[in-house]
Amino acid sequence: MEEGTLKKLISNIKCSSCRQRYESQNVEVLGCSDQMWFIQALCSSCHTQSLVVAMVQKTRHPEPVTDLTRTEQGKFVITGAVNSDDLLKMHNYLKTFDGDFMCLFESNKTQL
Ligand SMILES: [Zn+2]
Repeated sequence: MEEGTLKKLISNIKCSSCRQRYESQNVEVLGCSDQMWFIQALCSSCHTQSLVVAMVQKTRHPEPVTDLTRTEQGKFVITGAVNSDDLLKMHNYLKTFDGDFMCLFESNKTQL
């Protein structure tokens, strides 16, 4: 986690003495270890200093939910994202498409 993000998060915490929210410029990161951040916060209202220990866990990227096989996923990684040319081709194809989906799926010859 970046220091700026942490300061913003701490600025949403209220002072335990007067319930005033901390201001990000009054939040100072004292240090951090692997998952723990030590933060000093000064209340701008009652001038109480507080020490905050925040535990930050790194999240793993979740596995994508998909019906695609590994081979199919590899195919789409190679082909890249849909771009404006792809959309234009689809648009031109749909302009002349007569709505006969059975023909489309049976023939397997139609190329976009
Ligand atoms: Zn206060």
